Amino acid sequence: MNELRSIVKGSLLENEPMSKHTSYGIGGPAIAYITPKDRNDIYNILIFATKFEIPVYFIGSGSNLLVSDNGIKGIVLSPAKSLKFFKIENNSIIAESGVMLGKLVKESIKRNLTGLESLIGVPGTLGGALVMNAGAFGGEISNYLISVDIMTSKGELKSYKSKDIDFSYRFSSFRTDEFILLARFELKSESPEIISKKRQQASSGRKTNQPLRFRSAGSVFKNPKKYAAGYLIDKVGLKGKRIGDAEISTHHANFFINHGNASSSEITELIRIAKKEVYEKFNIKLELEIKTIGFEKNQIEAYD
Ligand SMILES: Cc1cc2nc3c(=O)[nH]c(=O)nc-3n(C[C@H](O)[C@H](O)[C@H](O)COP(=O)(O)OP(=O)(O)OC[C@H]3O[C@@H](n4cnc5c(N)ncnc54)[C@H](O)[C@@H]3O)c2cc1C
Repeated sequence: MNELRSIVKGSLLENEPMSKHTSYGIGGPAIAYITPKDRNDIYNILIFATKFEIPVYFIGSGSNLLVSDNGIKGIVLSPAKSLKFFKIENNSIIAESGVMLGKLVKESIKRNLTGLESLIGVPGTLGGALVMNAGAFGGEISNYLISVDIMTSKGELKSYKSKDIDFSYRFSSFRTDEFILLARFELKSESPEIISKKRQQASSGRKTNQPLRFRSAGSVFKNPKKYAAGYLIDKVGLKGKRIGDAEISTHHANFFINHGNASSSEITELIRIAKKEVYEKFNIKLELEIKTIGFEKNQIEAYD
């Protein structure tokens, strides 16, 4: 650890509880939670980890993550506090992966640029939004994307054009060993009235439909083709199902919430139950939208 500490220029928190870095407020300690200072720092950390065969996990602000109570046997690297470069010129945006999505949305609305306003209220960083292809109310982060710069875990820099990345519903083809550094967008000018209407619709839709007072990671499952996951979970009678401090929201059954001291095993138990009941009643396999770190194989995949 001392050797790692000596090469890191940013901040390194040893044995850091991941509950402090996830919107669920759940997750045991990572060996090291690092906020790198800059690209050089990222490069040195990745080369160090490769040399000593230490697993590295890239996260943003943890708003789509369930981390195991047993923690993460590896280094966690997040740009959320440091990679914050952001520039808008005419219709073009350049932003580093640690910029919050909310900032991108607000700054583009201010300049009467359309394309991101329906994402108002989606938590998280730009890096996380790109990996998840975050979307809401008909818009997706990939719609006006031009290119993305990444660094591989071997320290190589690459730039992808948008057309070279596969994006679909809550999916992108970035590999888990690719750290997103920066992205470029080209938005369109639009009248402030139209942008404001779209923003308003998204904002009030979110407030009506989502249990925003409680800790969650947003939708737990992707919506299957024909039905919303929340509808199916509701139909099998699981709305309000509670294990310890973890609950399937009574407000929106695809949001599982932490009432205070929920553990990852309580959330995973609810996930297993929802998958099982929906499969047995509807013959539909629910697929996780949230990303998981630190679990044993099959701990969550039961009933797949
Ligand atoms: C209340 C609430 C409402 C939500 N509503 C929506 C919604 O309407 N639509 C929607 O799409 N999502 C929604 N979400 C989910 C979440 O906000 C998005 O998925 C968000 O884009 C995740 O960003 P993040 O920075 O928190 O990523 P994280 O949760 O930290 O990570 C998500 C994934 O991205 C990877 N990743 C993150 N940063 C990097 C990086 N720099 N380089 C490489 N990989 C990286 C991680 O490894 C992980 O696989 C909601 C969540 C909450 C809590």
